[in-house]
Amino acid sequence: MNLQDLLQGKTTDAHKKVIKSDVRRAKLLAVAFRKNGSMVASSTNRIVRGSTKKWTIHAEEFLIKKLKKLRARERFGLLTVLVMRWTPSVGWKLAKPCKNCRRLLEEYGIETILFTTNEGYIT
Ligand SMILES: [Zn+2]
Repeated sequence: MNLQDLLQGKTTDAHKKVIKSDVRRAKLLAVAFRKNGSMVASSTNRIVRGSTKKWTIHAEEFLIKKLKKLRARERFGLLTVLVMRWTPSVGWKLAKPCKNCRRLLEEYGIETILFTTNEGYIT
């Protein structure tokens, strides 16, 4: 998956990755790209089941966790995160990060945060 291809609307396997999310009502994927457009890591949102309750980890939260596990060399020059939301019947939908996730991304040092819109664009 390449950021330039996604921005130009070229066919990618992005939605196949999104639908792997086990959250039924909103399937989201957050992808981190290097400055040259190549992908570093990606993560869907997911349901975590504890002993007495279950909750959802947002795609962006899980992406940051993944990035923190990478060696510094692998995440060097990391600048852009794209958040995507897919609904089989509609296609791409609004995936604007919530306040908490936006803060997490900014604190990590992500310079550009992009997301899909209801019109099917990336903004
Ligand atoms: Zn969030």
